[in-house]
Amino acid sequence: MSFTPTVDPDKCEGCEECVDICPMEVFEMQDEKSVPVNAEDCEGCESCVEVCESGAITVTED
Ligand code: SF4
Ligand code: SF4
Repeated sequence: MSFTPTVDPDKCEGCEECVDICPMEVFEMQDEKSVPVNAEDCEGCESCVEVCESGAITVTED
């Protein structure tokens, strides 16, 4: 089972909360937007989805 986190850059407001909360260090800020640079490390905890107030993050299960 693997998980794929994605960020909608149009919704991301650059708060960095997802960068701080992800235990796997999946996200990195690039040009004030969060980018899932280590998406393959995602464990599907959905902490990022819960912390993102703008609803920019989706985690899908493959
Ligand atoms: S928590 Fe949401 S709004 Fe904040 S940086 Fe991450 S994706 Fe962007
Ligand atoms: S679901 Fe959990 S492990 Fe995956 S990107 Fe979000 S916070 Fe990180």
